[in-house]
This record gives sequence, C-alpha cells and structure tokens, in this order.
Amino acid sequence: MITLALSKGRIFDETLPLLAAAGIEVLEDPEKSRKLILPTNQEGVRVVLVRATDVPTYVEYGGADIGVTGKDVLIEHGGAGLYQPLDLQIAQCHMAVAAPAGFDYQKAVRQGSRITVATKYTTIARNFFAEKGVHVDLIKLYGSMELAPLTGMADAIVDLVSTGKTLKANNLVEVEHIMDISSRLVVNQAALKLKTAAIRTIIDAFAQAMHQPA
Ligand code: ADP
Ligand code: MG
Repeated sequence: MITLALSKGRIFDETLPLLAAAGIEVLEDPEKSRKLILPTNQEGVRVVLVRATDVPTYVEYGGADIGVTGKDVLIEHGGAGLYQPLDLQIAQCHMAVAAPAGFDYQKAVRQGSRITVATKYTTIARNFFAEKGVHVDLIKLYGSMELAPLTGMADAIVDLVSTGKTLKANNLVEVEHIMDISSRLVVNQAALKLKTAAIRTIIDAFAQAMHQPA
C-alpha cells in the first residue's frame, strides 16, 4: 500500500492531473466527503488529507509514504528525513514582504531601524532579514497576516502572494520579493527503500506528466 498525503484546496486540485497521468484516480471529492482517507481506483494507493503544514510531518514519520507540499512549508519544517525528487511546479506563488502604503520600508531599512514583522513563516523571514542585515522583531501568526499592520501590531508582513489581490484589498504594498514558491513531491526515505518500484512508478509518471503541454 502506498499512502499519499495531500492538503485540500489548490494542492489537491493541482495534483489530480499528475495522479491521472500515473493512472491514479481519487474516488471521492474531499470538498463533499468528510473522510480523511480517500480510496483510489488502484487498490494499492490511497490518499490521506492533512493540513498543508502537516504534510512533511506525516511523510517524515511514515504516516504517509509520499506527499505534495509547498516549498514554504518545507523550509519551515526543515526537510529532515525527506527525499525531494521533484519540483512539481504547481501551486505557484511567491514569498514577499508587504507593508502599508504609509510605512516607508526602504527608509526604515536604510536607517537601520528595528522593524516589527508578523508572519506564519518565521524561518524564511528570519533568514531573509538576517541576510539583509535588517533588525526585525518577528511576531508569529497562524493566519490573516494582512491584519497585523492594519491594527498597528506590526510594521510589515511576510506572506505568500499570487495575484496580489489580497494585499491590495488591505491597502498593503509589496516591498520585497523573497523567493518563488511551488510545490514539491516529498518521499519518506525508508519507504523509498522498501517500496522502491511502486514509488518510482509514481515519481516517473509525475515527471513525465509535467513535461507534457497542458
Ligand atoms: P493553508 O491551509 O495553510 O491556508 P493553503 O491551501 O492556503 O494552505 O496553501 C497551501 C500551499 O499552497 C502553501 O503552502 C503554498 O505553497 C501554496 N499557496 C498558498 N497560497 C497560494 C497562492 N495564493 N497561490 C498559489 N499557491 C499558494
Ligand atoms: Mg490559505
């Protein structure tokens, strides 16, 4: 049995075509079912639904053999014990620093001021500002980062951006592009040794599907 960990939403949706290329069809719609374990058309393959941030943990500890997870989540997790054979190029977005239009971020950086930054991505934020030599006080949040500057709790945020609509709706402006983000296939290293053929088949099918025009 191969267990694949996915999170609901764009990662699940964008992984489906890759699974189809591997001949795997998920038999239930996670938006309609309350089940956390979804069967597929292949008896030896099942999908488990977990929180996006829990995908690397499930794969690391063997709750799942393979998973699909964002580069953001992987960096925050640390990636220990995970083999990362493929960047699937799905769920593409980027990590950015954003601030209210009224906050002169560049000036604060130039003057060496301490900046208060709210984020869910503390490792990425800490590394980015350390490399730039900017002193930051990080506030860890678990969601709705945009609210932090609007309430005066932070000067800026570090968050994922795709269209920029959420930033715009909250009067925030992107002031730094930190890194491009996409989702990767992660594999439990012990599972790769024990179930080499089955896992290789999936990796190869995904790789081949990615190189085909949509
Ligand atoms: P959460 O349950 O944490 O809200 P999301 O479904 O929003 O999870 O995000 C899951 C993953 O999808 C993220 O880790 C990231 O890699 C990617 N992602 C998040 N936001 C976007 C976006 N706006 N566009 C594309 N990919 C995104
Ligand atoms: Mg989200």
